[in-house]
Amino acid sequence: MTRKWVYLFDELDQASSYVGGKWDNVRGLLGGKGANLAEMTRIGLPVPPGFTVTTEACNAYLDAGMAFPEDMWQQELAALAEVEKKTGKKFGDPGNPLLVSCRSGAKFSMPGMMDTVLNIGLNEETVQSMIKSTGDARFVYDSYRRLIQMFGSVVMGVPDEPFEEVITEVRKKRRVKSDAELTAEDWMSIGERFRDIFRRYNRIDFPTDPLEQLRLATEAVFKSWNGKRAIDYRNAAKIAHDLGTAVNIQTMVFGNMGNDSATGVAMTRNATTGEKRIEGDYLINAQGEDVVAGIRATDPVEKMAQTMPASWEQFVEITRILEKHYRNMQDVEFTVERGKLWMLQTRDGKRTAQASVRIAVEMVDEGLISSEEAVMRVTPEQVDFFLHPQFNPHSKKAAGAEGRLLASGLNVSPGAAVGMVAFDADLAEAWAKKEGKKVVMVRPETKPDDVHGMLAAEGILTSRGGRTSHAALVARQFGKPAVVGVAALEIDMSQRLMIVKEQVIEEGDWISIDGSTGEVFLGRLDTMVPDISDPWLKRLLVMADSFRRLGVWANADYPDDAKRAREYGAGGIGLCRTEHMFFQSERLSFVQKMIMTNQPTERREALDALLPFQREDFIGLFRAMHGLPVIIRLIDPPLHEFLPNYESLMTGLADNKIRLLRAANLHEIDELLRKIEDDEHVLGRVQDLHEANPMLGLRGVRLGIMMPDLTQMQVRAIFEAACQCTKEGIDVHPEVMIPLTSHVNELKVQREALEEVARQVLEEQGVVIDYKFGTMIEIPRAALTADEIAGHAQFFSFGTNDLTQTTFGISRDDAEKGFLIDYIQSGILPDNPFETIDRNGVAQLMAIGVERGRKTRPGLEVGICGEHGGDPKSIAICHELGLNYVSCSPFRVPIARLAAAQAALRERMTDG
Ligand code: PEP
Ligand code: MG
Repeated sequence: MTRKWVYLFDELDQASSYVGGKWDNVRGLLGGKGANLAEMTRIGLPVPPGFTVTTEACNAYLDAGMAFPEDMWQQELAALAEVEKKTGKKFGDPGNPLLVSCRSGAKFSMPGMMDTVLNIGLNEETVQSMIKSTGDARFVYDSYRRLIQMFGSVVMGVPDEPFEEVITEVRKKRRVKSDAELTAEDWMSIGERFRDIFRRYNRIDFPTDPLEQLRLATEAVFKSWNGKRAIDYRNAAKIAHDLGTAVNIQTMVFGNMGNDSATGVAMTRNATTGEKRIEGDYLINAQGEDVVAGIRATDPVEKMAQTMPASWEQFVEITRILEKHYRNMQDVEFTVERGKLWMLQTRDGKRTAQASVRIAVEMVDEGLISSEEAVMRVTPEQVDFFLHPQFNPHSKKAAGAEGRLLASGLNVSPGAAVGMVAFDADLAEAWAKKEGKKVVMVRPETKPDDVHGMLAAEGILTSRGGRTSHAALVARQFGKPAVVGVAALEIDMSQRLMIVKEQVIEEGDWISIDGSTGEVFLGRLDTMVPDISDPWLKRLLVMADSFRRLGVWANADYPDDAKRAREYGAGGIGLCRTEHMFFQSERLSFVQKMIMTNQPTERREALDALLPFQREDFIGLFRAMHGLPVIIRLIDPPLHEFLPNYESLMTGLADNKIRLLRAANLHEIDELLRKIEDDEHVLGRVQDLHEANPMLGLRGVRLGIMMPDLTQMQVRAIFEAACQCTKEGIDVHPEVMIPLTSHVNELKVQREALEEVARQVLEEQGVVIDYKFGTMIEIPRAALTADEIAGHAQFFSFGTNDLTQTTFGISRDDAEKGFLIDYIQSGILPDNPFETIDRNGVAQLMAIGVERGRKTRPGLEVGICGEHGGDPKSIAICHELGLNYVSCSPFRVPIARLAAAQAALRERMTDG
């Protein structure tokens, strides 16, 4: 028996059982559009009859070098006969002709990738009978010319322009402004000229045999799967290239049959904000592409409540059924033909990150989905959008006051974008990628071949199009700020400029667009990172918290960071890098003095001067983190980092020596001699401290051992701060972290020396504090000997930055400038190991560290504080390894909360 290549919309059960009953597989076979048309048919919604040619047929056609697989065409004809039966019409029959549309539909929606041909089945004869049956010659000739135009451009590759030129010319000649004013005769003569164009481009006549039209249209959809723009889109959206597309053939219904007919597109909720209110556009007496193309000004769909109340009521009810059925917000297309409503498409609606979060949370409230599903539906990247730059309100207000608000349009994808105007995608890409410029891509409207420019740009601005336009969909999907449909912009592509409010803006000029409000400004506005005060996000993250096993802590050095981290939901500080405090200007001179001197008293003085600064820093952190653990890491970097660099010292010295030769008076000579002596002294110390590999040198615990008074000062500052806070009623939990341990004896010696200081302070102050001493695990040897190390550490924290560096033997400071990027691009490494934990290497060492550490000390607290702590894939690994927490930058805390919950839920799902 030959394979079944074609399924009628009401044969869903057969298609489903063929692919094992899984909805995902059904979508794979019938494409998203075909599967949803069949599903809508199954649940009894009004869908014009039709059938789907499978993706398998497409792949078989392409594999066979563009030949239909055996029996496919016969099956298509048989399905057509069934549709004829259902509609009581006949394809190609001059008496009562059936007309069909042909649309592509892959498993994943690819906006505008492969197009649609409408009105297939029209020719000279069927046109006549249609005129008779509808009594509307104008409508029929308009439909016919649309077929020739779409067939010409979609199937045969004739450019749009010659067709459009003809229409413009006729409009001019007839002195009318819109297509609606053209008559039946006009459309008839336009149709004839379209056929001439067709002939001129293709050297064949427009096919008048309806079956030939259908066959060629089917083939065109198959071929378009491998068209350049489809391939580009799949590359950008990471869609597999071997899925193929299905072809949907469906009975035509007409929205352009008079004022009781209409066509429209709608989202069942607001795709920008997520608000539960139908949002869309429709047009009375029009065909589908008129709405999407933005040629005619559309009306908001809710206006149907007045113009066609019965259809509106039915439509609202259908959207409710669809949402309940799919348990998701839907993006639908519909047509009303002489008062009868037809559903032409439904699919999960694309939406902004904000809408995604709000819809997920509200659907839990409405009982449509569980909180687990809500948490799984939002991606960590979407949470990241809440932290995207917004315009600084002062800068925006100032721009408004200076008259720099140029225009407003539709706010279709949120966020602020600032960049130079580029009027085409290639230039936008070249400027952004090759010249590192920030670009806002400006177009009348975007098309699928513009996607590369959109991806490279900071933001997108168009003068035409609506919320469902290509620009809006793509921008939302990729999280690019976008403003569309700014009618006030007059874009002149030939002169490469735009005019708005009599202001001429040339390519390369700076503009700022606000995708959250739809405003367009001249010049560069300041941006800022917003607070994540969105109430739905807060609720989603609280749901996430109830599922995650991992704690989420933050890396924060200053009290302000700690406050922000806590606001974002951090459960502790996982890393405070104390040396960052040394770099502040009023402290650096004491640090340098401490490093430079050989005199014990001078050294003591310098350390004594630093102590109060450190104590204040820690007090601030403890206050911000009242009740939560704070891990403070003792000084880590090599000391030369605190001194001027060798090259600049040498140049300064040489300069001063030259100036000495030319000194004009004794005072100047004295001054220069003093400077030279100082510089030589510093230079000598820098040379002493010089190491060929400072990253593998005197740093971390080694520094503490060699200069015990330095880390002792830090520990004294920590415990004095903790005592003072405790006396103020603050609940403190300091954890002192010793970095870069590789041998247990290092930790043993250092901890003994430091804990002695801690005990002294607590005794002096008469305070009892809950504290811990622990270490970072950031050298492979430490992970391998974790059982020994755990004997002297009350907690571990994986420093995966250094652990990656030392496991790979790749310098963390240089790698990303050089070969590592090539490695990633050429696939030698699957991911950047400094971004995502290397599962087969570094993660193995971590697993050993956890297991051996907890063998010696059951219940040992283990976390991670390398940059990986904020990376969703790495967070999943940390979850698997049974860590207690991940610690990341405050800005990534919300993302980490979600990623940790998703890791836990995924584990639950695989466990059954
Ligand atoms: C690490 O190495 O992962 C770490 C957190 O420490 P630092 O980046 O300060 O070396
Ligand atoms: Mg480190």
